[in-house]
Amino acid sequence: MQLQDQSKDVRVDENFSRSELIELLAVIFFASLSTLLMIHLEAFDKLYRYSRMMERYEFDEIAVFLPSFLAIGFVLYSYRRIQKLESEMIRRREVERQLLKSEKLFKNLSITDDLTQLYNSRYFYKRLKEEINRLIRYKQPLSLLLIDIDDFKRINDRDGHLQGDNILKQTGIVIQDCLRNTDSAYRYGGEEFTILLPETGIEDAIIVANRIRECFVAHDFSSITNKTIHISVSIGACQFKPEETMEAFVKRTDDALYAAKRSGKNCVHPSQ
Ligand code: GH3
Ligand code: MG
Ligand code: MG
Repeated sequence: MQLQDQSKDVRVDENFSRSELIELLAVIFFASLSTLLMIHLEAFDKLYRYSRMMERYEFDEIAVFLPSFLAIGFVLYSYRRIQKLESEMIRRREVERQLLKSEKLFKNLSITDDLTQLYNSRYFYKRLKEEINRLIRYKQPLSLLLIDIDDFKRINDRDGHLQGDNILKQTGIVIQDCLRNTDSAYRYGGEEFTILLPETGIEDAIIVANRIRECFVAHDFSSITNKTIHISVSIGACQFKPEETMEAFVKRTDDALYAAKRSGKNCVHPSQ
């Protein structure tokens, strides 16, 4: 909406404004009037003769000054046009800057999850595809973590959906705080999250996963209700096998997560 409004703004200014048109017509009118007057006073002939015979000064004063007025008029008019163009260019540059900013904002909104401020699942699949292509080219390891909050339904039932939302919001911060610069976190579903770990083998992925799990255990999620709330997460960890598909990779990570749930929750389970 904002983008449309700004581009409309640019188009309106491409046209001549009414005052500029009046200004131009006035200059043309006076220029024509001066020329006619000079013809009437035979000023051109006199100018010609004057230039040939400098000693004979019989020139009508008005004929001498009219061309000067005309020239001054054009200079002033051009000066005003240049000024106008300059400010128009500055304004357009500003609009372009705003458009780029809006575009960036719009792009960020389209890949970000509203509640947690982590990336969304659509962007996860895009990045996963890119990372798989990259690892095939450079033959580097890639690991994936799938995190699910334990007994979240019970928290919703006990403390209300609003508190549940508040926990999810904080979850985004807890996960981000545990990650390295190269890792990226995504809200995969309701209370499930994925972490992409480029250039990371399964041993290091388990270390990162356990660090995240411990961060969750240590964090106090209470803020709406004043009582202390602690939650835990179960995590499936998996390293990509070069011959498998993206879907098979995600499925293996999902299986590892369910193995972690079956093992009693609040733990990390690697995929075979
Ligand atoms: P488990 O330990 O087996 O994972 O048990 P669970 O209770 O967490 O079960 P499950 O993962 O199947 O359920 C997830 C629940 O998360 C169900 C749904 O009500 C809740 N949920 C999903 N999205 C949201 C959300 O955006 N806000 C809130 N407050 N709750 C959500
Ligand atoms: Mg779940
Ligand atoms: Mg759960």
